[in-house]
Amino acid sequence: MEMIDLTSGTGHERVLLCRDPEAGYRGVIAIHSTVAGLAAGGTRFWSYASEEEAVQDALRLSRGMTYKNIMAGLPLGGGKSVILRDPGRNGGPVDREKLFRAHGRFIESLGGRYVTGEDVGTSPADMAFIRQETRHVVGLVTAERSGDPSPWTARGVVRAIQAAAVHRWGSDDLSGRRIAIQGCGNVGSLLARELREAGAELVVADVDPEKVRKVVEATGARAVGPEEILEAEADLLAPCALGGILNAQTIGDLRVEVVAGAANNQLLEPEDGDLLRELGILYAPDYVANAGGVISGCRELLGWSDEEASGRVERIYDTTLAVLRRADQLRISPHLAADWMAKERLKALRTAPAPGRSS
Ligand code: NAD
Repeated sequence: MEMIDLTSGTGHERVLLCRDPEAGYRGVIAIHSTVAGLAAGGTRFWSYASEEEAVQDALRLSRGMTYKNIMAGLPLGGGKSVILRDPGRNGGPVDREKLFRAHGRFIESLGGRYVTGEDVGTSPADMAFIRQETRHVVGLVTAERSGDPSPWTARGVVRAIQAAAVHRWGSDDLSGRRIAIQGCGNVGSLLARELREAGAELVVADVDPEKVRKVVEATGARAVGPEEILEAEADLLAPCALGGILNAQTIGDLRVEVVAGAANNQLLEPEDGDLLRELGILYAPDYVANAGGVISGCRELLGWSDEEASGRVERIYDTTLAVLRRADQLRISPHLAADWMAKERLKALRTAPAPGRSS
């Protein structure tokens, strides 16, 4: 096992490049901040062109987790890890047990400052491999409880949509509002049901026609092709599929007044948030709107009851509204206002540290 400390100059608390050639493992663990609590953030399994690219991704994602957790009012800091998806030995399949157990050993060596869970490219089975080496992991499937965060995420997105609606239209009543949903997966399909119950008219799309069919059947939504959904005429667009969909190519074609959805990293570049603002499109920052998932994780991680978690998810309404109002006050884009507020909260915690704190 080899650990190279890359922390210096990153602005993070700890950044480690980890290698275990025996297991065919290369990974990065980045702890951005433990000011609010232990650093929490998933493990991503992804193909990177280089270790440098993997390090940059881990730095960006772990900073994002600090902001997301603190804006959700959680007593958690931010961290993230990535494992480089290399071909298996002699080009054969990857030995996931070896890989994730190696990752678990590196996490264990941090003594509990960082706790991980699922992310892009990983599953509960991978978390179970990690669990064989460390207890600092969540997201295992247990008999007692579904670890599925999607219903919580969907509910939080509804609350963010309501907050954006009241900010833009003076009322959070969604009846008669036309809402376009990109992606009818775990979150998108549940969101569609909730929005339908709230009286919204839906336009939906997915690359998987079966998923679209189910949502149409359950909600009476109108289906359009995946290439049409970003140009659909509606009051609001809820991106629930991919990251990076708000970019210089797509933003000019949007025919909505508001964007609020579940997808992570919706803005391809930070400037795309400014472009939305210039065009008068209100954007509810993704990490504020989709925090229901991480809040639901606190049931397992911090022993929160369903009621506690649910109360926090409902408050995504207040947080979103506060961000949108602050953006107006400061005359900046909402994504910048959210980062600004997150940094302010961190600063306040740094100057007045107290055990068991939460906002
Ligand atoms: P999912 O994989 O279940 O659903 C995504 C859906 O998007 C799939 O049905 C897929 O077919 C569809 N899709 C892919 N490309 C598309 C395209 N070009 N046009 C239309 N549809 C397309 O994932 P999910 O769990 O529902 O998560 C959705 C998004 O929300 C992701 O970006 C995820 O990172 C984010 N998110 C999810 C959670 C959660 O609790 N599941 C929490 C926070 C953030």
